[in-house]
Amino acid sequence: MKVTLENLTKVFPGRGKGAKEVIAVNDFSFEIPDGKLIGLLGPSGCGKSTMLNLLSGLLTPTKGKIFFGEDDVTALPPEHRGVGLVFQNYALYPHLTVRQNILFPLQNRKGKDKLTKPQMEEMALEAAKLVQIESLMHRKPSELSGGQQQRVAIARALVKMPRILLLDEPLSNLDARLRLQTREELRRIQRATGITTVFVTHDQEEAMSICDEIVVMKEGLLQQMGEPQQVYDDPANHFVASFLGTPPINQFAGTVKGGKLYIGDQAVLPVPGVSDQAVTVGIRPEGFVLQENGAFTCQLKAVEVMGRDITVLSTHEACTAPAIRSIITAESRVDTAKPTVSFDLKPHKVLLFDENGERIRF
Ligand code: ADP
Ligand code: MG
Repeated sequence: MKVTLENLTKVFPGRGKGAKEVIAVNDFSFEIPDGKLIGLLGPSGCGKSTMLNLLSGLLTPTKGKIFFGEDDVTALPPEHRGVGLVFQNYALYPHLTVRQNILFPLQNRKGKDKLTKPQMEEMALEAAKLVQIESLMHRKPSELSGGQQQRVAIARALVKMPRILLLDEPLSNLDARLRLQTREELRRIQRATGITTVFVTHDQEEAMSICDEIVVMKEGLLQQMGEPQQVYDDPANHFVASFLGTPPINQFAGTVKGGKLYIGDQAVLPVPGVSDQAVTVGIRPEGFVLQENGAFTCQLKAVEVMGRDITVLSTHEACTAPAIRSIITAESRVDTAKPTVSFDLKPHKVLLFDENGERIRF
């Protein structure tokens, strides 16, 4: 089901005297294509959960509209929206078994939607199979690992065959290895069901790795939406560029003069068409090419050999971080006896931003 947001806004009134109101979601307009897995991404407090709760109907927007397909659902209560919700803390009923937890959303249906017992049992088993917990049906939540509990929560959200699946940081309570495994599972389940899914996370790597498209937000405002690789390669502004990427983009204070980009007093790259100005320079770790007489020379600090590639750690007085990270191929040889290291830069891995953080293209 396609989801369309039109100027969606949620303002929370300030609490207490003189407290400022919070615009948690600020004039959001976008379209979530049918059957896709969308990652809603941004730092803590940027409005992700508020957005999800507006989609689910748990919150009412201050302004704007929400459409599921052609239906305006803005005023529809949560139970009539046909959404499945999964939260970070699995929120299972502790006194019920896995089977009873999954059955729960089916049991209070009335009238023509009422299901027979065998129908319900079959649906619950289907959902359990989808998340591969059918052998755990008679356990209580306390007898399950965190990963298993989260699978039960996903099964419970899926059992009603929701029109939209909403996941709010569903992997945050899992340890690193399980998180990796479960995110692949999520991708598989989403593909298998084809349910339009919004996956909220503050972890850019998580969103980039499994989502068809990502939506990056900051302080309630939509920053950019697109396929992960496209947003990574072509960020709209400084915030998006620095939020995406591990290791993060290297940042420098630079200047443009006469069509050339300077970092310190070194002319590191031609930037035709850019007017003379102070800029913030972002260079992706993979944007460096080791070159003996390269245009950009830094103070060599250390070399980390990772097998597949090499990370060169260096410093430069114009760099805003303590160290510059450059990732180069394992075939390259870095002369660690020398105090400096020189690079040429790959032009498409060098991003320029003006004083407002807006992208300057060249
Ligand atoms: P995220 O999920 O991205 O961490 P939230 O959507 O939870 O962010 O919160 C966005 C902003 O709205 C925050 O500044 C938060 O303090 C504020 N906020 C969220 N819920 C409420 C509420 N019920 N009342 C007042 N302010 C709220
Ligand atoms: Mg949240």
